[in-house]
Amino acid sequence: MNITGTIVNYYFHCQRQCWLFANRINMEDNSEDVRIGKVLHELKAEGKNNTEIAIDNIKIDKLDDIYLVEIKKSDTDLRAVEWQTLFYLEKLKEKGIKRKGKIEIIEKKNSSKKMHYIDLNEDKEKELQKILLEIENLINKERPPEAILKRGCKKCAYYEYCFL
Ligand code: SF4
Repeated sequence: MNITGTIVNYYFHCQRQCWLFANRINMEDNSEDVRIGKVLHELKAEGKNNTEIAIDNIKIDKLDDIYLVEIKKSDTDLRAVEWQTLFYLEKLKEKGIKRKGKIEIIEKKNSSKKMHYIDLNEDKEKELQKILLEIENLINKERPPEAILKRGCKKCAYYEYCFL
């Protein structure tokens, strides 16, 4: 199984969501929240300085001479986005491309942007390798972890699958 940035993100957000997505139980098209995210993503990708690129099985929102840019519509789970971005930075580094990470948060209600910066250092690389092994172990399990209701579940594409 090829681990993707989305799988890394979900691992931090919810391990059940990570398992369901990685095992191709895909309810995402039904989610209004996911649709809004996709539209934002497409709008950003239309900017003339933006270059969405795909490397292996990962898609990067923007890449310039300094930064790899990950675009999100909220910073409610910043830790998940940070590790997703670090995962992309590592994939680029494996291809000989060194960049710093920039996370752009584009708020839905207004047109303001927030920026967060993150860099891949030796410690983060080691931690990432450990996390990737943990993810591998999780998604290879026969069953997903039990559903536990938490903040954010109602916006999750799997909410009905988990709780109704
Ligand atoms: S609804 Fe909640 S428990 Fe179920 S996959 Fe989504 S975040 Fe996880």
